[in-house]
Amino acid sequence: MEEKELSFLDAVKINLDECAGILELDEETHLAIKTPMRELVVSIPVRMDDRKIKLFKGFRVQHNNARGPTKGGIRFHPEETIDTVRALASLMTWKCALPDLPLGGSKGGVICNTKELSIGELERLSRGYIRAVSDFIGPDIDVPAPDVYTTPQIMAWMMDEYSIMKGKTQFGAITGKPVGVGGSLGRTDSTSLGGAFALREAALEYKIDLKTAAIAIQGFGNVGYYAAKRIHEMLGCKIVAVSDSKGAIFNKNGLNPVEVYKHKEETGSVTNFSGSENISNRELLALDLDILIPAALENVILEKNAANVNATIVLELANGPTTPNADKILWENEVHVVPDFLANCGGVIVSYLEMVQNSYAYYWTLNDVTKYLDDKIRDTYRNVLGVSREKELHMRQAAFTIAVDRVVKAMKLRGTI
Ligand code: NAD
Repeated sequence: MEEKELSFLDAVKINLDECAGILELDEETHLAIKTPMRELVVSIPVRMDDRKIKLFKGFRVQHNNARGPTKGGIRFHPEETIDTVRALASLMTWKCALPDLPLGGSKGGVICNTKELSIGELERLSRGYIRAVSDFIGPDIDVPAPDVYTTPQIMAWMMDEYSIMKGKTQFGAITGKPVGVGGSLGRTDSTSLGGAFALREAALEYKIDLKTAAIAIQGFGNVGYYAAKRIHEMLGCKIVAVSDSKGAIFNKNGLNPVEVYKHKEETGSVTNFSGSENISNRELLALDLDILIPAALENVILEKNAANVNATIVLELANGPTTPNADKILWENEVHVVPDFLANCGGVIVSYLEMVQNSYAYYWTLNDVTKYLDDKIRDTYRNVLGVSREKELHMRQAAFTIAVDRVVKAMKLRGTI
């Protein structure tokens, strides 16, 4: 298939087809792991500030619950499509199975531009989405969380709306909530911290001295900013470039992530940061680096630019940044790819801990959360690396075989297939 026609959903299906071949799955099992369990398309009427009603379209896809209640974020994005949500829901199934969490996979999305909504409109939209899907979610059914352009405050409104509908406080219905309304310590930057732990393991393996390593990060939102901060402060790396949707900045001597964040808060973008050079997102991906971290959106490392990647490690904090054809090129060029559902599974790991804490109404210390996350990521990374070496598979293939095998075993035990 031509690379330009390949959607994120196509990419996930290709990865699953390849995995089905490696695991020698029969046709029915292969079809079962590709097919979402339930898909909802909802229409959300929202009273806008001018008193007019505007209809927004939303999605919730529950991909597979063989190993437990489904779990997955909600994205608020102007270009959201059900196919992207399907791809992300499938990825969540594998992301939960890979670190052996007792959860399945789902995802949600609303077509909207949060930058054009007032705070009141955003709250009414968030509550409206939950009302629209409320019969199909819940602590034992399907538990949403934040993702692109959704925040802990939005999660608090969503949990509140669900609780009002059920007539009792239901902290466990949503994760990624602020601390104080059932949130877990350590959740805000858990995706990035998990990524930093995975990077530490990969750097050990590839003998990269992190104190002198040059790193570029695409995307400077929740995941990209905290990744820059954690990796800079905890591992001592030099962040030479970062970017957002408006462009990228480069400084070969290193950027201070906190200062760049302040600049972005003041000006709306990382670009034009003092002492740095403005470059394009395309140029960022081709910089001479030790580590490249895509942390924005899917489909950025493609067949046409994969050969330009000049890094020893690609740590995929975004979901689906690399297409299957690009993956092959990176593999041939001996770039070590830490695949998305391993690199960014820290978020769902701490979301799982949030669910556990909510159900016990007993809250962990930050140290306990961090230690659990560190151990889980280290063990998961080592497991994937071990399978990759033993079976001569690249890291994504190895991760898929571990995760799919666990889900298939659960489906067989339950008699689903
Ligand atoms: P976010 O909305 O906080 O930030 C997204 C960032 O990407 C912003 O800085 C935005 O300016 C930038 N961006 C958008 N379009 C871009 C483009 N074309 N080029 C360069 N930068 C661009 O979102 P987030 O929560 O940080 O999520 C980022 C990625 O991480 C997504 O792929 C998401 O699915 C994935 N992810 C997020 C979490 C989480 O806990 N938030 C967990 C796992 C995976």
